Amino acid sequence: MRMSKTFVKTLREAPKGEEARNAQLLIRAGYVHKEMAGVYDYLPLGLRVLEKIKQIIREELNRISAEEILMSTLQKPEPWKKSERWDDQEVDIWFKTELASGGELGLAPTHEEPVTELLKTYVASYKDLPRAVYQFQTKFRNELRAKSGILRGREFLMKDLYSFHQTEADLDEFYQKVEGAYAKIFERLGIGAETFETFASGGIFTKYSHEYQTLIPVGEDTIFYDKEKKVFLNKEVYNEEVLRDLGIPEGTEFLETAGAEVGNIFKLKFKYSEPLGLNFQTKEGERQTVYMGCYGIGVSRVFGVIVERFADEKGLVLPEAVAPYKYYLVANGEKGTAKATEIYEKYREKDEMILDDRDVRFGEKMKDAELMGIPVRVVISDRGLETGEVEVTERATGETRKMTLDKVFGAL
Ligand code: ATP
Ligand code: MG
Repeated sequence: MRMSKTFVKTLREAPKGEEARNAQLLIRAGYVHKEMAGVYDYLPLGLRVLEKIKQIIREELNRISAEEILMSTLQKPEPWKKSERWDDQEVDIWFKTELASGGELGLAPTHEEPVTELLKTYVASYKDLPRAVYQFQTKFRNELRAKSGILRGREFLMKDLYSFHQTEADLDEFYQKVEGAYAKIFERLGIGAETFETFASGGIFTKYSHEYQTLIPVGEDTIFYDKEKKVFLNKEVYNEEVLRDLGIPEGTEFLETAGAEVGNIFKLKFKYSEPLGLNFQTKEGERQTVYMGCYGIGVSRVFGVIVERFADEKGLVLPEAVAPYKYYLVANGEKGTAKATEIYEKYREKDEMILDDRDVRFGEKMKDAELMGIPVRVVISDRGLETGEVEVTERATGETRKMTLDKVFGAL
């Protein structure tokens, strides 16, 4: 990307009324644009980050044989009525609208009902199970409070995975595979060390579901934990009975901290397959209801969590795995500029460099590289070129080293 060619500019200030640090930084750095509270546009840099996050998730889910689909956002009421989730008294975050030809429609806040309905077309016998499908999809939720930037959107990107099984044992087995995939995903996203599987409410078999909580101060949830015993509990479910159920010894002293829910996984059992009538014929010729699981990750929330976790007083700090580009080239002087352009052209196909070729002060370029959180800033100056060296600064550590050009880009 050439800074002189992109339509986006870095901004000195975030818009008034934007309270969340993640959104303030992302707006100033030119990654996102705010439409209204809880609604954001993703600009070229922000979109690249979302795509990198999606690709990591996609690779790990494909590894456990899940298939990617894309379902519709517009929802007819019928399936939701069967599960009693259409009524605004039951689900208070619906955005609903009307068809010009008459009749109500909803904008999907999630997809359990439509995906259950979808599978009815393709699952008839035990031979059609197990199955697992997932999508990256924009969800709409009329959230009462939307003050946390991209951590809580009224429109946001979710990855939702659904699995379908003949038996409880099969569901358990797949659930464990998802746990493994999630551990890898959060590790690869750079937040593995602070993201923990946490007991939460809402399970069908076990009374519990699991949330993936990233421990960061702006998180909206309260987490009780004992790191040594590797126990993490959402405060919502904490009580004597729960401790007994989970076999947590009496007198365990929990520490309390804030967490942001980046994902959650549920054994749904028959919660949707029963009322919607998703069943199959067993080997013995009997009808049986399909066991289901569902597994979410808040893709845009993950982006916000990464921002909140690593940003510093100079701006964004993005892990290499999700940064939109790896290198930010800043030239100084005539020869430096020629060399920087040459390097940019040479590695253009790799698409991992930003060339700051704007007609602005050197100092401004250096600051923007920091604000934008690009992992490696490379300064190519006339003086450095005399000895064949450039100055390489790692954004995460602030460490600067002099290196030869070959050494910096050799691995590309
Ligand atoms: P929360 O308790 O934060 O409202 P939820 O329990 O409603 O989340 P799910 O319906 O299970 O969440 O959605 C799956 C994932 O989508 C969540 O784990 C979270 O990471 C993300 N998510 C949920 N609501 C939002 C939102 N309004 N904006 C961004 N991400 C969200
Ligand atoms: Mg919610």
